[in-house]
Amino acid sequence: MENKTIGIVGGGQLGKMLTDSAHKLGFKVIILDPTPNSPAGLVADTQIVGSFKDRDKILELGEVSDYITFEIESANFEGLEELIKKGKIVHPNPQTLRIIKDKFEQKVFLKNYNIPVADFALINNIEDCKKQGEIFGYPFLLKARFDAYDGRGNFVIKNEQDISIAFEKLLKGSPLYGEKFVPFIKELAVVSARDTKENIESYPVVETIHKNNICHIVRSPAPVSEEIKEKANTLANEVLSALSGVGVFAIEMFLTESGEVIVNEIAPRVHNSGHHTIEAFNISQFEQHIRAISGMQILKLEKIKKHAVMVNILGEREGKADYKITTDGDDNSNSAHVHIYGKMDTKIERKMGHITVLGDNLEDTENKAIKTRSNISI
Ligand code: AMP
Repeated sequence: MENKTIGIVGGGQLGKMLTDSAHKLGFKVIILDPTPNSPAGLVADTQIVGSFKDRDKILELGEVSDYITFEIESANFEGLEELIKKGKIVHPNPQTLRIIKDKFEQKVFLKNYNIPVADFALINNIEDCKKQGEIFGYPFLLKARFDAYDGRGNFVIKNEQDISIAFEKLLKGSPLYGEKFVPFIKELAVVSARDTKENIESYPVVETIHKNNICHIVRSPAPVSEEIKEKANTLANEVLSALSGVGVFAIEMFLTESGEVIVNEIAPRVHNSGHHTIEAFNISQFEQHIRAISGMQILKLEKIKKHAVMVNILGEREGKADYKITTDGDDNSNSAHVHIYGKMDTKIERKMGHITVLGDNLEDTENKAIKTRSNISI
C-alpha cells in the first residue's frame, strides 16, 4: 500500500517540524510555499512553489494529498473550502480559519462567546483613530486585521501625533482595528490538540516573553500560581468549545496585575509557544497535530523534566545566513537542543532557529538556554 500524503500550506519552520513528525509516522509530505527550498520544502518529499494565497495552488496541493493542513493563517480559505467540497480532508476546519485570520472578526467571535478580551473597535480612517484614542486613552494599539504575525502590523499609538505616522508608515491600505492597551504583567499561552473523536490534550500553561512584539523566551511551566494556571486552562477550554476544528490550537493570553486572565489571540495551528514540546514531552505539538489531522488518536501527555525553557534564535543582521556555533568548553555536558531552520537569508529579528533546555530548576535551565544562544551566530 502507498504511504498516505500530507499536504501542508506554508513551508516555514512550523512546516519543517510538522514534516519531521509526519515522516516519523510514515507519511509523505508535500509543501506549498512561494520560496523555493523553503525550510519545510528542504525536508519534505516535494514542494509546490506557489503562493499560499493562490486558490489554484491550494487545489493543486489538494489534488496530490490525502490530508491537508496549514501552518499559516494567510492560507487561501476559499481554496481549502473547495477541497472539502471535493471530498478532501482538511484540518483545521477552513471556517475556523476564516474567523481567526481576520483579527477583528476573531475578537468579535470571542466577545460573542463571553470570552474576556481587551476592548477593541473597527478603525476605518484617521478620524476614527483619533476618536478611539479619546475612548481608549493613550497608549493604545492599532493593528492590521490580516496577515499580521510576529508583531508586524501592530503599532503602539502613544499620542495623537503617532496616528498619522502609523497610517503612513505601517498600515498603508490594510484594513485596521484598534485595541485598548493591556498593562499585563505576564503573557501566557496554552497549546491544545483536539482529535476527530473530540479528545483534547493541553500542554501545561507557559509564559512567553516578547520583545518588540516578538517571542524571545518560553518558560514551561509558567511561573505563576496554581490559581492563575487554572484560570488560563479554563479560558483555553472555553475557546476550544467555542471553536470547531481538529488539530493543534494555541491560545495566547495576558495576565494583569489584579490576577485577571484575558485572551490576546488564537492561532489555529502549531505555535512558537509549543516548540519546547519536542523534547519536553513524550509527544510534541507537531506529532499531536499530524495524528489529529490524519484521524489518529492524540496521546496523553507526559512531561520529561520539571522545567523547559525555549529561546528563539533571532536574526541580528541582513544578508545570507551563516550558521556557526562555538562552545567555550565550560559546559559540554549541557544538553541544549539546538534547532536551525535552514532559512537562506537572515534578517533582523527573523526566526532562524530555537534552543530548548530541560532542567530541574527554572533559573539554571534558562541561563543554560541563554548561554547557548550567545554561542551561536547566524
Ligand atoms: P499580536 O501579534 O497582536 O498578538 O501582538 C504581539 C505582541 O504585542 C503581544 O504578544 C503583546 O506583547 C503585544 N500586544 C498585543 N496586543 C496588546 C494589547 N492590547 N496591549 C498590550 N500589548 C499588546
